[in-house]
Amino acid sequence: MIIGSHVKFNKEQLFGSVKEAILYGANTFMFYTGAPQNTIRKEIDNDLLLKAKELMISSGIDIKNVICHAPYIVNLANNISDEKWQFSINFLKQELSRCEILGIKYIVLHPGSAVGLPIDVALKNISDALNLIIKDDGPMILLETMAGKGSECGRNLEEIKIILDNVSSSNIGVCLDTCHLNDAGYDMKDFNKYLDEFDKLIGISKIHCIHINDSKNELGTHKDRHENIGFGTLGFDTILDIINNPKIKDVPKILETPYIDREYAPYKQEIEMIKSGKFNPNLIEEIKEYYK
Ligand code: FE
Ligand code: FE
Ligand code: ZN
Repeated sequence: MIIGSHVKFNKEQLFGSVKEAILYGANTFMFYTGAPQNTIRKEIDNDLLLKAKELMISSGIDIKNVICHAPYIVNLANNISDEKWQFSINFLKQELSRCEILGIKYIVLHPGSAVGLPIDVALKNISDALNLIIKDDGPMILLETMAGKGSECGRNLEEIKIILDNVSSSNIGVCLDTCHLNDAGYDMKDFNKYLDEFDKLIGISKIHCIHINDSKNELGTHKDRHENIGFGTLGFDTILDIINNPKIKDVPKILETPYIDREYAPYKQEIEMIKSGKFNPNLIEEIKEYYK
């Protein structure tokens, strides 16, 4: 089982991220190269990077399973303001070179939001932008499957396929998100059916990361509100079945479940619960107790 959560990337950069992942008993993790809401980024510190790599090796974290996530505010779908579109393209180019310096193989990207453009134009904009960004031998961008909140692109398999078909490089993949898929209308209780459809349209080998989240909302509500594992619409057994599905066995699983009371990271306890294979109805209370 390759499992971790999103972690911080602060003053200690990747070294701090690795230390946090170890606290959670994880063997991988996902990080943003700065705050997810903005594009202010610091230079990569070489000493900290060396320390991070040493710690990954000594603690059994394989860097090829570590995932970067691009900030939410880059939007490749909308080019009504050419300046903003170009900014997003340039930012992602820089993000890719940061990943290259760090030795990170994969970077997850929200495809973008159409905001006022017809969907076909928005999807074409995303592919056009990706064609300017992707390098065949660089880190791979993974398009995340979205809930379809507002005018989000990538809300179904067909939209993801259209984007991929218009990207000339094969150095591109997909990141599934179980909360988003539920909210988009794909029943995760029948995950094999979804994987079959995915395989027919896109090819299962394109999946390189899975965000493991429960959902606060019912199937097809297009809301995108994550819930702690086992406490939402999907439920523990459905999520465990997805994690243990042999077809995606070697794909890194990343938790992005909400902090308890906006303060306490739930990942150590959630990962323990997943590894135990048994739902713990007292999990939330135990997390609060742990941080007291
Ligand atoms: Fe995401
Ligand atoms: Fe996600
Ligand atoms: Zn989400």
